[in-house]
Amino acid sequence: MSINRRDFLKGAVTMGALAGAGSLAACAPQGGADDSPTAGTTKARSWETVPDPIPENDISETVEADVVIIGAGVAGMTAFMHACEAGAKAVIIEKMSQPSARGLDMAAVNTRVQKAAGVSIDKGQLVSDLVKASGYKANGSLIKLWADKSGEVFDRIIDLAADHDAEFVLGMGSSATANAPDFTTRTYPTDHNLAGYGVHECMEALVGWMQERALANGGASYYKTRAEQLLKDGSGNIIGVVASQGSSYVKYTASKGVILATGDYGGNEDMVAEWCPLVGRVHGTAYIPPEANTGDGINMALWAGASMQPGNHGPMVHPIQGGGALCTASFLRVNANGKRFADENTTLPGITDAVMSSAKRTVWTIFDADYESQMASMSALSTYNFNTAGSLTKYFMDGSMTPDAVPPLPEIVQMGIDEGATFEGQTLEELATTIDVPADALVATVARYNELVDLGVDEDFGKDPACLKPIAKAPFYASQVPAKLLVIPGGLNVDDQLRVLDSEERPIEGLFACGNVQGNFFANDYPICAPGLSHGRCITLGALLGAAVAKGSLVQ
Ligand SMILES: Cc1cc2nc3c(=O)[nH]c(=O)nc-3n(C[C@H](O)[C@H](O)[C@H](O)COP(=O)(O)OP(=O)(O)OC[C@H]3O[C@@H](n4cnc5c(N)ncnc54)[C@H](O)[C@@H]3O)c2cc1C
Repeated sequence: MSINRRDFLKGAVTMGALAGAGSLAACAPQGGADDSPTAGTTKARSWETVPDPIPENDISETVEADVVIIGAGVAGMTAFMHACEAGAKAVIIEKMSQPSARGLDMAAVNTRVQKAAGVSIDKGQLVSDLVKASGYKANGSLIKLWADKSGEVFDRIIDLAADHDAEFVLGMGSSATANAPDFTTRTYPTDHNLAGYGVHECMEALVGWMQERALANGGASYYKTRAEQLLKDGSGNIIGVVASQGSSYVKYTASKGVILATGDYGGNEDMVAEWCPLVGRVHGTAYIPPEANTGDGINMALWAGASMQPGNHGPMVHPIQGGGALCTASFLRVNANGKRFADENTTLPGITDAVMSSAKRTVWTIFDADYESQMASMSALSTYNFNTAGSLTKYFMDGSMTPDAVPPLPEIVQMGIDEGATFEGQTLEELATTIDVPADALVATVARYNELVDLGVDEDFGKDPACLKPIAKAPFYASQVPAKLLVIPGGLNVDDQLRVLDSEERPIEGLFACGNVQGNFFANDYPICAPGLSHGRCITLGALLGAAVAKGSLVQ
């Protein structure tokens, strides 16, 4: 579906109004002059009211297990496979009718595939970059754990794929900007994907193979089974979960532990407003399947006394599935006021953070008739962004196009115009009027930009001169920059062993978390310096946790 400028701006107002409504409600004075029955009251959020326990009489069946895993996404399924392989009686319960999987990139360090390709990664520097990217709010020990163990864990995943005649290869981010001097734009060759598998097929296949292996090792999986409440013993230890299956309830007991792997809370408006409010300003969501990411695991854990990762959470918001032609390339970008605001040669989160933080949630990428020759001399980061994000991603995801065979640039620009996401003007004034930015401001911004081009140095925002190209030749173009939420990989407060912590920061016995419901691994932003890290974290930490809980030991 295409969006035109009017819809785009209308959407901005609607989303902005919603976001504003949330913050106004939170600031509203309690009580006061208004004495209506509802004045001063706010609706309790789901995690604030502990529900009554589900009565024993309503439970129709009990399933006994050593390890219960809640949520059959990549994290839960990896934990499930490893728990079963470690000899435990493990069960996985999932509220949807099938496992959840999406995307294709998986990050690891020091795998057989990397060694064979002669790729070596400076692990210490990568961990340092990831901690810096979190503004020092992530737990560096967990990041180090991933970096240290991901190679050996991933080699087993490579073997699993080989059993299905599939081969892992290095992904597209692998040569991006490994040697960039600035940590904010450095990317490492961490990403792996399955040769010949499409965007979602890759993860769907892998999750399917993991489940098959788990079932072959004695595991059991239950679909359309929604975890409702964790079960505690008299000492407050978690000993199982009660789940609903249609209109009946089933109790799953866990003698060794319950692993929460329920994914993120991006589909829960109240949770977004509480823990990741900037996400209230995205242009939409790319998460699939809808209704899986409602924060159920967070509700259950908080009802059981757990706490959330302190500080701000780092959402994965990318300029994908929409926007205009070449919108992620590092041409000039302006806000709704027609003003330049940053070095445009930035990462995907750098681009979308600016969109979410800008007036009217609006950013335009501006280029001129020479875009073809200019694109060819853009920086490696700009090319990486162009190949992985922007308007073409919707075609990459539906399989009708692949990044290594995109149409010629003029065709892409025409597609943007046809879709109502790229606009053209014979003059800058005409373009400004079309996109509803002040014409005098846009003209002045372009004049200053061209001065910097002549100078060969970006004195204003410090952009790589490779990306500094004139905007002088008609027609002129403006492409919308989208900001779509994928996931919010921030969640429950955990320690270095992935034990969920209570409000006093003590481990809750028997309760563990992995995947997006687990906090403390990301903060500020989902960083792009280790492409595939979201899956990579799910796989490595899920594997370590599944095996450790199965053995009654702790993640080391
Ligand atoms: C379009 C898209 C593309 C992506 N591409 C990539 C990529 O290439 N590389 C990368 O690293 N990351 C990518 N990501 C992010 C990545 O997919 C996720 O971060 C990761 O898969 C999360 O895995 P998870 O197991 O933690 O959660 P999920 O995959 O969200 O799984 C959680 C599961 O728990 C289930 N669940 C929830 N509540 C309950 C309950 N009460 N009872 C039972 N079950 C429950 C849900 O139904 C769901 O199946 C992408 C994301 C999107 C949206």
